[in-house]
Amino acid sequence: MDTVGNGWLEEEHGVLRRILLGVSRSSQIKKAVSSLPVSSGIVARFVAGETAPEAVLATEKLVSNGLNVTLDHLGENVTDRAAASATANAYLDLLRKLSAAGLTKHAEVSVKLSAVGQALPGDGEKIALENARTICLAARNAGTTVTLDMEDHTTTDSTLGILRELRQDFPETGAVLQAYLRRTESDCRDLAYAGSRVRLCKGAYKEPESVAFQEKRQVDKGYVRAMKVLMNGDGYPMIASHDPRLISIAGALADRANRKPGSYEYQMLFGIRPEEQLRLAGLGHTVRIYIPYGEDWYGYLVRRLAERPANLQFFARSLISKK
Ligand SMILES: Cc1cc2nc3c(=O)[nH]c(=O)nc-3n(C[C@H](O)[C@H](O)[C@H](O)COP(=O)(O)OP(=O)(O)OC[C@H]3O[C@@H](n4cnc5c(N)ncnc54)[C@H](O)[C@@H]3O)c2cc1C
Repeated sequence: MDTVGNGWLEEEHGVLRRILLGVSRSSQIKKAVSSLPVSSGIVARFVAGETAPEAVLATEKLVSNGLNVTLDHLGENVTDRAAASATANAYLDLLRKLSAAGLTKHAEVSVKLSAVGQALPGDGEKIALENARTICLAARNAGTTVTLDMEDHTTTDSTLGILRELRQDFPETGAVLQAYLRRTESDCRDLAYAGSRVRLCKGAYKEPESVAFQEKRQVDKGYVRAMKVLMNGDGYPMIASHDPRLISIAGALADRANRKPGSYEYQMLFGIRPEEQLRLAGLGHTVRIYIPYGEDWYGYLVRRLAERPANLQFFARSLISKK
């Protein structure tokens, strides 16, 4: 297809993505979608299950194939303190189970601060920091690490502030930066220091033009600029993308910066491009798969559907047949 055609398709996709992310806020749609069983085709493709034992099982399978894992206990934007503590406890339980299964050398956890209290009125940031601290301590005792997921742009400063606090005691805590945000190249410069683990992703939320690039081409260019900073810096870049072009550019930039496999890693989501995950691992790269699990899978699923129009057909079929 010519570039004009591709550009048109990309624009259509961008519009569809923004509509879907907007519509997904309707409570009726959420009710209809959440009535799908987790075992239904479209949910099971992206989510490892609703319980910690299911997540551990999925981890075992991936690790036995030479892959590494980061696990996300699904849930976001909790509205009370008890729910924030429940999320923290779910992570402690998961870490105990991963440790008992001997998996913590290859499995860490990813935490959304909004799931541990960040959005609570008043002292939400303090509650999130304390809960995150508890999870970081449990992770360290289990011999592994935590990465703080990045959510919508209204939380970026708060999340990076909490990261700074956490890194005083747990310098191994990973950060996430989103290439679609105009500020990200500068944030990469701040975070490209020795020992700093930084996951770079494109970004999955509906963001206004004032803070974020809207077109795929602009986002991709932002990704490359950010990658250059991270690869040329002293930290540990974690390249989170399924985009073949960006994966290949990452390899070239790593070579140019004299980075060996193991001084950076590739990350992909559970269920997306599994052959590519194995291909990169087969070349000797560290590859980490993000495994989401838990009952609150709605927001995560919608973001995955919005990324790829083809997923929507599959999804519509699941909803009609409610298998
Ligand atoms: C490990 C990991 C952690 C992440 N953490 C965060 C985070 O903390 N905050 C955040 O905002 N975002 C996060 N993301 C999501 C990310 O921001 C993107 O939304 C997502 O990765 C899609 O972007 P892409 O780079 O794969 O490129 P795209 O241009 O979206 O996709 C490139 C190709 O990958 C394949 N692909 C991509 N998505 C799908 C899909 N849903 N279904 C099927 N095929 C697909 C297709 O072949 C597509 O052509 C994370 C992603 C990864 C991999």
